[in-house]
Amino acid sequence: MPELPLWAWTTVAAVLGLLVGSFLNVVILRLPLRMEAMWREQAREALELPAEEAEPLPPGIVREPSHCPHCKHRLSVFDNIPLFGWLLLRGRCRYCKAPISIQYPLVELLGGVLSAIVVWKFGPTWPALAGLAFTWLLIALAGIDFRTQYLPDELNYPLLWIGLLLSLQPMFVSPTSAIIGAAIGYLSLWSVYWLFKLATGKEGMGYGDFKMLAAMGAWMGAGALLPIVLLSSLVGTLIGGTLIVLRRHKAEVPIPFGPFIAMAGWLWFVAGDWLLLTYQQLTGLR
Ligand SMILES: [Zn+2]
Repeated sequence: MPELPLWAWTTVAAVLGLLVGSFLNVVILRLPLRMEAMWREQAREALELPAEEAEPLPPGIVREPSHCPHCKHRLSVFDNIPLFGWLLLRGRCRYCKAPISIQYPLVELLGGVLSAIVVWKFGPTWPALAGLAFTWLLIALAGIDFRTQYLPDELNYPLLWIGLLLSLQPMFVSPTSAIIGAAIGYLSLWSVYWLFKLATGKEGMGYGDFKMLAAMGAWMGAGALLPIVLLSSLVGTLIGGTLIVLRRHKAEVPIPFGPFIAMAGWLWFVAGDWLLLTYQQLTGLR
């Protein structure tokens, strides 16, 4: 595939990322609704409640066309153009003028920019394709955790399995490194969780966080875990601290940790070597 220059591949990735970002918005909104509905259905079965009280399932992720959440008007193809649709409408529904959440253009922009960076870094290669899957799963996970404080297994497990399977190639790390990375990733946060719970009686994070760090270990090996945890704590403290200082967020209300693991993991994935080198040069540790 060497006929096209790198900037052309990067542009293709940006456009693809915008389109996928538009789909990720739907996943972020609808996946938690569908999961909650299924849990209620299972609970109803377990409690042997009559089936006629069962509610209809919320809209599916792939089939149902998108509509305005306020006036339910079906959106046209033009309204659905990623990022630019929102900009052209100035953030308001064409039909009822209700404001459209900033989440839509933000997730699309994130999809476009991060996809472009991945392809710019890896070139038109298989690792770039794997990196795109990694990026898109992380955007969906971070978005859902941000909205609902929940990291669904439906996305965490594919992330973990893809990481483990790619190590068979091996693409990024050896199988040994991936398996040990996954185990240490899970167990490290699991131990912190239990120590914190035994000491304070509170829960600082959830099992979804352990699974996500396990996936990071599978993709990048055990050696990447410490930098990722340090980076995510740093980003988390900065953002969480800013929110508390600005009084937008009460200190007792938990801030989801998943988005920070996702950010730190992605940063280490595309720029870990550069970050390490910069750190060594700054501290003279080389
Ligand atoms: Zn509307």
